[in-house]
Amino acid sequence: MSSTQDILEAITAGASGEDLANLELPESYRAAFVKADEADMWEGVESADKDPRKTLHVGEVAMPELAPDEVVVAVMASAINFNTVWTSIFEPVSTFGFLKRLGKESKWGARHDLPYHIVGSDGSGVVLRTGSAVRNWKAGDKVTIHCNHVDDQDPSAHDDSMLAANQRIWGFETNFGGLADLTIVKANQLMPKPKHLTWEEAACNALCNSTSYRMIVSKHAGDMRQGEAVLIWGATGGIGGYAVQYVLNGGGIPVGVVSSPERAALLREMGCEHVIDRKEAGYKFWADEFHQDESEWRRLGKDIRGLIGRDVEMVFEHPGRSTFGASVFVTARGGRIVTCAATSGYMIEYDNRHLWMKLKRILSSHFANYAEAWAANQAICDGKVQPMLSRVYSLENTGEAALAVHQNKVEGKAGVLCLAPEEGLGIDDPEFREQVGEDKITLFRRMTS
Ligand code: NDP
Repeated sequence: MSSTQDILEAITAGASGEDLANLELPESYRAAFVKADEADMWEGVESADKDPRKTLHVGEVAMPELAPDEVVVAVMASAINFNTVWTSIFEPVSTFGFLKRLGKESKWGARHDLPYHIVGSDGSGVVLRTGSAVRNWKAGDKVTIHCNHVDDQDPSAHDDSMLAANQRIWGFETNFGGLADLTIVKANQLMPKPKHLTWEEAACNALCNSTSYRMIVSKHAGDMRQGEAVLIWGATGGIGGYAVQYVLNGGGIPVGVVSSPERAALLREMGCEHVIDRKEAGYKFWADEFHQDESEWRRLGKDIRGLIGRDVEMVFEHPGRSTFGASVFVTARGGRIVTCAATSGYMIEYDNRHLWMKLKRILSSHFANYAEAWAANQAICDGKVQPMLSRVYSLENTGEAALAVHQNKVEGKAGVLCLAPEEGLGIDDPEFREQVGEDKITLFRRMTS
């Protein structure tokens, strides 16, 4: 029986795919998980006071059996996404309900219904085993993993797989997530690892990068045209930072909103000329808990016009309740509000007159289908989109990392080292890295504390 240490040594020594495939898999491995019997522990506690360090445990978990359409990946690095925060604070619902429903679907689904939930929806690593039905991947392949978990025998998954009736997010609505030394994923979640990046730089992109690609670029959501102006909330955050890059790459004009002078400087460094510091501006869109203040929406609209001389054609919306009314208001006639989240609250209120009278459209978006995730990964492989890694934690400190994201202390992405013993490993194409530019690749790491 190999240990995960043996696996790491084999990978580090450059073992062939055949040698890796011949390594026996361990019976258990290290992972970050929440426990079903702790799902009630936050009752009566305010969201902001819920501390993920108390609910995210790191320990040994049993190696699950591999289904024919799956692969085992040795996870070198992973990353924190906001969904791990939601899981750890058991909001808006406990994720054990998702696992129970998946457990009822099939023999393979039943493996997921456990009293612990291994979290994490990003990862980079090396394929160790392939199930008998896997054709396009083999042991030894270096990969990144996207989180769209779909059943390819479900007809509803064959137009846009995000419309599949049983579409799920790996490591959030399924078990065996990426914040672990090993993971099992469907073969159709794999994408090639960008050769010029470290394990942790490669691991931090797939979820946020693909989400922003669909929201801004894809015909399924924003479908941005050259020259369009886009208001981007949280423009140095996980999804916001990739959105800025796609708007710039597509010949658009990003107007980025952030909440500190440091973030404003970072945004300018990314090439976003038009920046609003929402803290400095002191917008108060909600006069009290129940009433919004339209004059504050107008003030934001005026500030945008002051910067770009017109209204924005699109708003990249995710804060939700706190900003949605303003987002609808400031969108240009005929423009669109693309939403994928509601960090500050999902019961949204906006003035419908501003929507219908000016023929605006609200478009919903959620992660990305395989083709979109692949295109977004290709943009990273080509050096056209940069990873936004700003911090790196050890797997043992997953709770600490999730707390920092929960408290809005992280710019870009927080990476997590799993099997990778240290930062900086995994670069296979240093020449291309130099061509893309070390400064560009490490911008967030350098400019944040
Ligand atoms: P981050 O924490 O990395 O960034 C969010 C940013 O939003 C922050 O940097 C902050 O920027 C800004 N923000 C937070 N609260 C408010 C507020 N009340 N008003 C205005 N701005 C605010 O998170 P992510 O970017 O990774 O995710 C953002 C949201 O999107 C989360 O709710 C997440 O769950 C969701 N999401 C949804 C996905 C999907 O597929 N549907 C995929 C990925 C994420 P600043 O303070 O600088 O203004």
